[in-house]
Amino acid sequence: MTLTLAIVGRPNVGKSTLFNRLVGKRLALVDDQPGVTRDLREGAARLADLKFTVIDTAGLEEATDDSLQGRMRRLTERAVDMADVCLFMIDARVGVTPTDEIFAEILRKRSAHVLLAANKGEGAAADAGVLEAYNLGLGEPIRLSAEHGEGLNDLYTQLQPIADLYAEKARSEAPEVDVDLDEEDDDPDAVPQPTNAKPLQVAVVGRPNAGKSTLINQIVGDERLLTGPEAGITRDAISLRTDWNGTPMRIFDTAGMRKKAKVQEKLEKLSVGDGLRAVKFAEVVVVLLDAAIPFEQQDLRIADLAEREGRAVVVAINKWDVEEDKQAKLRDLKESFERLLPQLKGAPLITVSAKTGRGMDRLHDAILRAYEVWNRRVSTAQLNRWLTGMLEAHPPPAPQGKRIKLRYMTQAKTRPPGFVVMCSHPDKMPESYNRYLVNGLRLDFDMPGTPIRIYMRGQN
Ligand code: GDP
Ligand code: GDP
Repeated sequence: MTLTLAIVGRPNVGKSTLFNRLVGKRLALVDDQPGVTRDLREGAARLADLKFTVIDTAGLEEATDDSLQGRMRRLTERAVDMADVCLFMIDARVGVTPTDEIFAEILRKRSAHVLLAANKGEGAAADAGVLEAYNLGLGEPIRLSAEHGEGLNDLYTQLQPIADLYAEKARSEAPEVDVDLDEEDDDPDAVPQPTNAKPLQVAVVGRPNAGKSTLINQIVGDERLLTGPEAGITRDAISLRTDWNGTPMRIFDTAGMRKKAKVQEKLEKLSVGDGLRAVKFAEVVVVLLDAAIPFEQQDLRIADLAEREGRAVVVAINKWDVEEDKQAKLRDLKESFERLLPQLKGAPLITVSAKTGRGMDRLHDAILRAYEVWNRRVSTAQLNRWLTGMLEAHPPPAPQGKRIKLRYMTQAKTRPPGFVVMCSHPDKMPESYNRYLVNGLRLDFDMPGTPIRIYMRGQN
């Protein structure tokens, strides 16, 4: 299953130019039979490591007749319905036109994922148009120059988490891990540092009113507008690029877009979907709880989702300024946390006040640390010494009198750490033994909080 991206927008904004750039060659038309309008073309696109199908609605000619709007609408709707994600393009040098607004409206109603591109973005003449694009309420515009090939990395950054989401769907439940037993141990300290080119991706998730917007404002300061004015419910997420205490970050905001939701049911639906997308996007997920009503069903669901998706998790307890007996409350919270979210054992619990800014530095440090642990690599030599000790302390079970032998262990992946153990009868290995090893790894290699996976593999 490949992701399909439709490029839509009014004539002349640069859709074909981008299409050609993504596809890299001239292509056959989709409706390539006589009598069928040649208005949609499709091609195999590539952007860095992403492979997807791209649809172009380029057949639309600039026309002055009244039928343009109707045709445009039909064509766009068709493209939207064929696609998993739409890239809505405007001309940044012209700014947002009334026709663009009609498009935005269609997309908000009809498309699950919308990315916004302000094209012809090279040069200062585009500055005003890029800013105006925020007003469409479709999230952060990607400043592109299809002609010059600029901004494609920002397109990649926004497309990649959506592509992940689709890839995940296609993948089976049990992940395949490539085991390379010859792989020599990497430098255990080699944790990729967030850089301007690759900022740390953070999502702030939590129930409505937990304080997500307030927290994000506190992080990014006043430098960025979170939501377009009167944006309404936009269906796309907003991500913000910021430097927080000197750490380059991209923060995924799920809050702004629900502000205007009127119907509770709608709000619930949106928040689940947003939460999922936010989690997919993130390297570190901050689960923000309201100290007054912590660990509600919705909070637990999203925290569990983050763990299952293998993200590093930091739990932040907000509105700490209003708590009176802070010590007793913290004890309570810790106890509930361990009981309700055992799968996140050791994840940091940080008390903050998004309103006053208290605890923000600790939150920043916890995010960095969670990221570091998530990237941790343990050498094979260390692991196998450790495994020997663990086996001696508590031998594996012997179902039907046959002891399961654990022979060898290696770290197969990071982000999150994943380990492969070669053993006899992997199918008979009880879950409890797996847990014993996971908890041991956490303690002995100082990997609190991060999801750890151990895969048992049979030999021969
Ligand atoms: P479409 O009708 O939306 O498919 O637009 P085209 O791709 O045909 O482009 C319309 C015009 O805009 C062409 O003359 C392109 O060369 C030009 N164009 C496309 N992208 C850019 C860009 O990034 N910068 C500038 N300056 N011109 C562009
Ligand atoms: P969101 O729906 O998660 O984005 O929540 P908001 O950021 O809109 O905050 C919801 C309400 O909680 C607003 O009235 C905020 O002023 C309030 N709030 C947010 N953070 C704090 C905090 O740290 N302390 C207190 N006392 N109120 C807060």
